[in-house]
Amino acid sequence: RRAELRPPLVSPAMERRDERGWVEVISGPMFSGKSEELIRRITRYQIARIPTQTFKPMIDDRYATDEVVSHSQLSTAAQNATDSDELLRLVEDRTVVVGIDEGQFFDEGLIDVVEALARSGKKVIIAGLDLDFLRRPFEPIPTLMTRAEYVTKTLAVCHRCGGAGMYTQRVIQSDELVVLGATAAYEARCRHCYDPTESHQERLEIDEDE
Ligand code: ADP
Ligand code: MG
Ligand code: ZN
Repeated sequence: RRAELRPPLVSPAMERRDERGWVEVISGPMFSGKSEELIRRITRYQIARIPTQTFKPMIDDRYATDEVVSHSQLSTAAQNATDSDELLRLVEDRTVVVGIDEGQFFDEGLIDVVEALARSGKKVIIAGLDLDFLRRPFEPIPTLMTRAEYVTKTLAVCHRCGGAGMYTQRVIQSDELVVLGATAAYEARCRHCYDPTESHQERLEIDEDE
């Protein structure tokens, strides 16, 4: 199912052309500061009294549901959306800046929604993983990067050697694409320390409630 084939999800008010809109993507592995950077940008608009709304997918219930919280405990208020259609419905007319965290957990309809919002004059800032734990492109983030005016690639510190952490290494055994609520299941790794077979070699006990 290709996102381009969907009918446009644009309300009449949103068809108005407004040059102020654009798309920013913040992307990299886990622990690279994506949420921190999103929170920093949103907070600056709030200080300037520019109306913002921040969203996160319903799937992500690791932290308080009405906030985006970084691993470094920065936070900003956030609304939950079950899918991209609901996100679009929740965006208010007066909102100028739309923040989206964990964008990789939204459906591919997010691509059309983000472009519709940008065309209607809103600045849309999406944070999310570019790759899954096997280094496969994690849609819709890679496609959103190609539709964005601004792309920031964030790097973590490699948990093993301290180098440039580009990849998310799963360190427990699981075949699920997503192991939620288990920060201890992942490490950031550089290209030298990343090993896709490692998660199948060792099995660590993890606390699902962490
Ligand atoms: P992301 O959203 O990309 O997963 P966060 O913004 O939630 O990242 O968290 C970034 C913070 O995580 C850093 O400022 C630091 O305090 C902490 N952190 C923990 N492990 C690492 C690591 N390996 N590399 C960089 N930061 C780390
Ligand atoms: Mg994050
Ligand atoms: Zn390394």
